[in-house]
Amino acid sequence: MPFPVENAVFDPAETLPRADLAALQLSRLRETVARCAGVPFYREAFAAAGVSPDDVRSLDDLRRLPFTVKDDLRRHYPLGLLAVPRAQVARVHGSSGTTGRPTFVAYTRRDLETWSGLVARFLVAGGVRAGHTVHVAFGYGLFTGGFGLHQGIERVGAAVVPAAGGNTPRQVMLIRDLDPDVLVCTPSYALHIAEVMAAEGVKPGDVALRYGHFGAEPWTEEMRAELERALGLLAFNNYGLSEVIGPGVAGECPARLGMHVQEDHFLVEVIDPDSLEPLPDGSEGELVFTTLTKEALPMLRYRTGDIGSLIPEPCACGRTFRRLAHLRGRRDDMIIVRGVNLYPSNVEHVLLGIPEVGPHYQIIVDRLGLMDEVTVLCEPASGDVERVALQERLKDELREQTGIRLKVEVRDIGSVPRSEGKAVRVVDRRG
Ligand code: ADP
Ligand code: ZN
Repeated sequence: MPFPVENAVFDPAETLPRADLAALQLSRLRETVARCAGVPFYREAFAAAGVSPDDVRSLDDLRRLPFTVKDDLRRHYPLGLLAVPRAQVARVHGSSGTTGRPTFVAYTRRDLETWSGLVARFLVAGGVRAGHTVHVAFGYGLFTGGFGLHQGIERVGAAVVPAAGGNTPRQVMLIRDLDPDVLVCTPSYALHIAEVMAAEGVKPGDVALRYGHFGAEPWTEEMRAELERALGLLAFNNYGLSEVIGPGVAGECPARLGMHVQEDHFLVEVIDPDSLEPLPDGSEGELVFTTLTKEALPMLRYRTGDIGSLIPEPCACGRTFRRLAHLRGRRDDMIIVRGVNLYPSNVEHVLLGIPEVGPHYQIIVDRLGLMDEVTVLCEPASGDVERVALQERLKDELREQTGIRLKVEVRDIGSVPRSEGKAVRVVDRRG
């Protein structure tokens, strides 16, 4: 078998020939634009951009449509962009508010069906089967992670343990006692669960976990290797955001070389965040999504603020949808140090590449006079590491790999804050 897991496809649409896909996308785009024309916000945006719904005759005409940003949702708080009567709303979720005041999103019954189907696709691609037990340690509530994964797992026909986030010793107890095959949470929380497991003397071989489905925040290949080692499972990446639908916008297949964008439900563009011009496949830029089937809250050219790139080559798994490379991160999390851009994932890549360094880290940005000072907080992998020497080695390694001189503090084990959901990687103290 060329893949570490059987290459099962949940939905035949995932292997649609590209030409058929394009035809489907165009008819769905036209329906979506027509639906948006019923929303005052979009009507005004169309008028301002000088386009009418009838102008969309080809997929290239997407470029004529206006962008949508998070602020548009904030300005029309709470549900001003709704495209269906309120009585047709079956569920409301919210963004987790990582970057400011939360925004709400809404779903019709059919949107919920669509969503669970999309989650089922990446779960099945990543080994989940009917008969499995899946432990969900995502928060349940307005956050789309918990309910989104929950209903997708049910769609696959597997059993759910809705553990929700927090109380890590109890998570470990549930994993020991209920023998879940699959763990679902953020990669940073999985790391914390693994740490508590190890502290209780539980070895990876003592639990039944075989697959991990991790998402909701950026993580590196080095983190994947760490989680696979610490939990004894195969780890898969999935991506989504509440404004577009939630988890299920893109997910890995058995090849685990990028996340297939569910292109029959979303159009993806990569744009230059400054000029707003579309970039060719393979270039790094801001991801922009247009929903093709959402009823309650269709989104046209939604600017995610996430920086990534599309892999143009077809995938060995036979799915025809293009893939997103591992995301670099949010543009908001980018730190500019003396003119050079730095993402937490750049730092993670360096730290986790050194066996003497533990996997927990945080980046502190201070203002010293006119200069920003960036300090990387981390921990040694074990108590017998010589810390001063490690600190010097890390400084050199970070300068070599990022081109930036950063301060490094190797602290006591356990002193860097642990995450129970989305990890806070950057603490900005510049006021
Ligand atoms: P919030 O913007 O408040 O965090 P969401 O809960 O909808 O709202 O989170 C969506 C965001 O989480 C994405 O825009 C992206 O920044 C991040 N994200 C989700 N999945 C991944 C992933 N697999 N890799 C990197 N970032 C991710
Ligand atoms: Zn694939």
